[in-house]
Amino acid sequence: MEFLQPSTWDEALAAKAAFPDAVPIAGGTDVMVDLNFDRHRPPALLDLTRVDDLTGWGSDGDLLRVGAGVTYRRIVDELGTPLPGLAAASRTVGSPQIRNRGTVGGNLGSASPAGDAHPALLAAGAVVELASVRGTRRVPVAEFFTGPKRSVKAPDELIAAFLVPPADGRAEQFAKVGTRNAMVIAVCAFAVALDPAARSVGTGIGSAGPTPLRAPDAEEFLAGALDWEGRGPVPPTVAARFGELVGAAARPIDDVRGSAAYRRHALAVLARRALGWAWNDLGGA
Ligand SMILES: Cc1cc2nc3c(=O)[nH]c(=O)nc-3n(C[C@H](O)[C@H](O)[C@H](O)COP(=O)(O)OP(=O)(O)OC[C@H]3O[C@@H](n4cnc5c(N)ncnc54)[C@H](O)[C@@H]3O)c2cc1C
Repeated sequence: MEFLQPSTWDEALAAKAAFPDAVPIAGGTDVMVDLNFDRHRPPALLDLTRVDDLTGWGSDGDLLRVGAGVTYRRIVDELGTPLPGLAAASRTVGSPQIRNRGTVGGNLGSASPAGDAHPALLAAGAVVELASVRGTRRVPVAEFFTGPKRSVKAPDELIAAFLVPPADGRAEQFAKVGTRNAMVIAVCAFAVALDPAARSVGTGIGSAGPTPLRAPDAEEFLAGALDWEGRGPVPPTVAARFGELVGAAARPIDDVRGSAAYRRHALAVLARRALGWAWNDLGGA
């Protein structure tokens, strides 16, 4: 197997253009599992860990731009304030070892419907930046996933970064069901973002469809039902309807981790719970 080790972003893009079958490796927490189990034997690995451009974050106009190589550990330690939903999701990923190595770019690269970063990125309205020697393009995360472990990323493209409007007054929460508290693939997961300035709601569903999903009907319903001005209590009927609409937006299957019916039910519960936490964060009753 070839091992390509670029030290600059331009070299990395040139290598991916020259060897489109080369598998990029960042933290390796997905790639190495596949190699160890002999699920995949790529002709070449493209090591991205020496490319400094991928490990930075900073402002990009009104958005926060986070390099694909930023680890979960750093999201939690450095970006908890501007990205509270993603930080909450990152805290639930694997174990400290996995959070030290694993990256959000790797989560996007694997494009698993169960990736924990995805619901939070969906709820926050993130955009994925893809690059190749042909140029750079930005794709809303809601349009990034095309199927289980598939995305719009072309064979010669790499994920450069993701961009999100920093929370700044927005409340974000994440909740996940697993068979235990750590080191577990989610049975289902849910993220919500409440933006009082725009009076808008964002959602993200994980592990309950062929791709991570939004729940647009639930978003629209809740945006029109919350007392944004007075921050009065969320009526139980509103929370229940929100939960129902989130459950209805899922497209789950029965599998070893849970039945489709259980996933819909659990999502409705997670949605009500996450809404309560987020409303509370906004000072709501
Ligand atoms: C024990 C264990 C527990 C885990 N627990 C969780 C969990 O709780 N939640 C969860 O979501 N995941 C979990 N994972 C999966 C994994 O840690 C995550 O998917 C992680 O985000 C992968 O990041 P990485 O940097 O290690 O990616 P890698 O393994 O390096 O790469 C993953 C994929 O992304 C591609 N890729 C990486 N970087 C780029 C780039 N810049 N451009 C293009 N493609 C790229 C790779 O080619 C590969 O296809 C777990 C894994 C293990 C082994």
